[in-house]
Amino acid sequence: MDNTLRLQYLEAMGIDVWLPRTLNTIAPDAGQPHAEAIAVDDNWETLQAEVANCTRCALCTTRTQTVFGSGYHQADWLVIGEAPGQNEDEQGLPFVGNAGLLLTEMLRAIGLSREQVYITNILKCRPPNNRDPHADEVANCNAYLQRQQQLIKPKIILAVGRIAAQTLLNTDAPLGKLRGKVHAFNNTPVVVVYHPAYLLRSLPEKRKAWQDLLFALQTIKIKGKIDERIDGQN
Ligand code: SF4
Repeated sequence: MDNTLRLQYLEAMGIDVWLPRTLNTIAPDAGQPHAEAIAVDDNWETLQAEVANCTRCALCTTRTQTVFGSGYHQADWLVIGEAPGQNEDEQGLPFVGNAGLLLTEMLRAIGLSREQVYITNILKCRPPNNRDPHADEVANCNAYLQRQQQLIKPKIILAVGRIAAQTLLNTDAPLGKLRGKVHAFNNTPVVVVYHPAYLLRSLPEKRKAWQDLLFALQTIKIKGKIDERIDGQN
């Protein structure tokens, strides 16, 4: 039974599931050229080496190093942010610095350590001065994220912040309208949460962030029950 049907079960159980028009690409309207086939023998070593040497977009000329991602390769939770910032670019790791510390605390609040999840970004290289990603950069980097998702096979994706959410879900809807719903990316449930860098600037929003995390927790628990039931029928 495929994940599309599992998402329909989620909806049937009262979880509001929003399916994008196109499930298998990021921002196809942005001239996305990399809907390339993923090799069945793809592996982490090959993928990480490709990213480390990537020159597909102009960000390769300004990065200190690529930021591939970190965490558990068979994680149930895939955490996706926008792009590396200065600290990440310097250290080669995603979500470090104060925002990274807050993300770690947010995960801990729902019983997860960073070692139990996989954390990456839509872009693997830092845009200069932390500007928003350009469409061509997202399009060129898209295949790497999709291959990471294929290797991990997460049960849920946390889209961290507006840019990550809008890019993954191919929408320009504001983050406030994307919260509190289950979306889908390649048939994996997606829950949108505020970016910790934003929360550091907007302390009153922390309560909403907690609600988002609880919603994500509820979603993966319900999905787990659905999976058990479906697997028991097979
Ligand atoms: S951002 Fe992505 S596509 Fe662009 S150079 Fe870095 S790894 Fe390659």
